[in-house]
Amino acid sequence: MTDYDYDANSDAAPTPDMKDGTVVPSYVSFRPEPGEVFEYTGELNEYEVMDGGRRLFFKGTQLAYLSSERPGVSRWTDISIFITTAKQFIVNKIGVSAIVHLSTCSSIANKTLPTPFTAHGTEISIEDRDPCPICNPDVKFQLENDPASLRIERDRHWTGVSSNAAGLIESMYVTRNGTRNLPSLAAGTLEMAARHNKDIHDALMTTRVA
Ligand SMILES: [Zn+2]
Repeated sequence: MTDYDYDANSDAAPTPDMKDGTVVPSYVSFRPEPGEVFEYTGELNEYEVMDGGRRLFFKGTQLAYLSSERPGVSRWTDISIFITTAKQFIVNKIGVSAIVHLSTCSSIANKTLPTPFTAHGTEISIEDRDPCPICNPDVKFQLENDPASLRIERDRHWTGVSSNAAGLIESMYVTRNGTRNLPSLAAGTLEMAARHNKDIHDALMTTRVA
């Protein structure tokens, strides 16, 4: 699987995932509002998630949502798990970036990042972004005087589809430096989902014992 998470020590900007900046996915609905936590409702809904630049639609139930967002951090990961009406398991990971640069920033040289005008409607609004510590833009001033000089880091989206719970768990492992492991955020999201789905619960228990 793709090692999708942001590396906090890297200046690498995300790959632009949509050429057409006018498309606004509705995935916001499965992410809690700022300051709120996910609460399982068991509701059946139409969902839309993204995988790179592709959009996936399905009808299902959201089993879990967990975020590594914390104060003072400008990049984090959100993970959601769903089960569709056809009993497919879906995991969606979003590498979120709240960083804004000046177009002249050395850390984004050779990268094509969107301006405030070409960003998605789903990403963190320019006013709420954290200035890059290298180029340190005065966002308020630049917005008033030269907004085209600003560049935002795009969110990165990854979605996996599995026909059973074991495949779901497998898809959430990452390999770093040759070692496979289940990141704590992924494990936490799976444990949350296991509270609402017996297949995931049983598969998680089996994985632990094996
Ligand atoms: Zn910068």
